[in-house]
Amino acid sequence: MPRTIHVIGAGLSGLAAAIRLTERGERVVVHEAMQQAGGRARSYYDASTDLVIDNGNHLLLSGNHAAMAYVRTLGTEAGLVGPPQADFAFMDIASDERWTLRIGNGRLPLWTLDEKRRVPGSTLMDYVRLLPLIWASKDKTVGETIACKGPVYDRLGHPLLLAALNIDPPQGSAALAGAIIRETLLAGGRACRPLTARGLTEVLIDPALRFLKKRGAEVHFGSQLRALDLRHGRAQALDFGSGPVALDNGDAVIVAVPPWTAPSLVPGLSAPTQYRAIVNAHFRIAPPKDFPSMIGVLGATVEWIFAFPDRLSVTISGADRLLDQSREELAALIWREVAQVARLSGDLPPWQVVRERRATFAATPAEDAKRPDAATKFSNLYLAGDWTDTGLPATIEGAIRSGNRAADLALAN
Ligand SMILES: Cc1cc2nc3c(=O)[nH]c(=O)nc-3n(C[C@H](O)[C@H](O)[C@H](O)COP(=O)(O)OP(=O)(O)OC[C@H]3O[C@@H](n4cnc5c(N)ncnc54)[C@H](O)[C@@H]3O)c2cc1C
Repeated sequence: MPRTIHVIGAGLSGLAAAIRLTERGERVVVHEAMQQAGGRARSYYDASTDLVIDNGNHLLLSGNHAAMAYVRTLGTEAGLVGPPQADFAFMDIASDERWTLRIGNGRLPLWTLDEKRRVPGSTLMDYVRLLPLIWASKDKTVGETIACKGPVYDRLGHPLLLAALNIDPPQGSAALAGAIIRETLLAGGRACRPLTARGLTEVLIDPALRFLKKRGAEVHFGSQLRALDLRHGRAQALDFGSGPVALDNGDAVIVAVPPWTAPSLVPGLSAPTQYRAIVNAHFRIAPPKDFPSMIGVLGATVEWIFAFPDRLSVTISGADRLLDQSREELAALIWREVAQVARLSGDLPPWQVVRERRATFAATPAEDAKRPDAATKFSNLYLAGDWTDTGLPATIEGAIRSGNRAADLALAN
């Protein structure tokens, strides 16, 4: 009887782990508590807008190598769309100033020398001031490491780090910010092309389920792991509420659930306990002709606007301050800004506001220090998830890398 590897959770980390394991010929069973896979990265039909929308706009960068390998494995790279080069449109809402940061394709940061391509009003020295983040120690915040002011910080560092860390950047971990700078701006333009999935479920989730099914993996929905029997240094059994499911010798378990659930399954586990929210607003309206696929907005509540053929969608990170405001007020406020940026007039179109309170763990040095390794003290139990110690903030790339690592550990055992 071949061994079975149980993956608990069908978010991107669990799916990545399951894919890697089935590719290597392992027998895999995925158990997902909900009736849908994808976890915090999923699409669904929304009656208010009469559209299929994503719970949140998810930005990837072409340098997210694990995420790119994941879509290549699934054959869905074409579903990731963005400008042909690393161009980022920006607007300052107070002054109505608009510009495009053109990082280009080269490895050398020549764009920082070119007035037409770099942040308006910046000099080379302003970019150099971000560099201490690269070698920052894990206990330092961004605010303790660099001066959080000046044109490059205000117009590039702040929006980039807020989006990547999902926390007001000065409070964020300098080491996690450094990882982002290293893997994006320092890696050159080819690593910085912004990409969005034209439907998270369509591009990242359903193809993964098809891939697994085709290779004989089982995926059970509505299958919530209630308890793990952990004795004698290993996981002995799984409990889904209808009695223990014993694990044979050689069987293994990858727990790929969120940080607020994992410690209840693995007693004594260290995990982040603080979170930050993300608010997304979706408006059913066709974007104006020539509107960029994505634009960063400065000096506004709105931070990024994404243009899809049937809607304009807004992302606001570190958005805990907006959680007590009514959805109607938020929709009206956000729409006023979107209309200004897109130069649209007219009434509020059909809309939806999605507030994810625990979108990511709070990327502070203190929370980062609580992240556990994928290996546990139990010989056949591994952890995956964007909150495990990936060295990256909570992102798709981090989730997929964590799933790959957990799978590799299980394979090596
Ligand atoms: C609104 C929003 C916007 C975001 N934007 C971006 C972005 O632009 N770019 C980016 O890279 N990242 C972004 N992220 C982060 C990204 O979505 C996450 O990092 C990633 O999806 C996390 O995947 P995961 O597998 O670690 O966890 P999850 O997606 O949380 O998956 C965990 C799964 O485990 C299941 N589960 C829980 N308990 C049990 C149990 N007991 N038994 C069985 N199953 C269980 C859950 O139902 C879930 O499906 C965003 C997140 C949100 C919420």
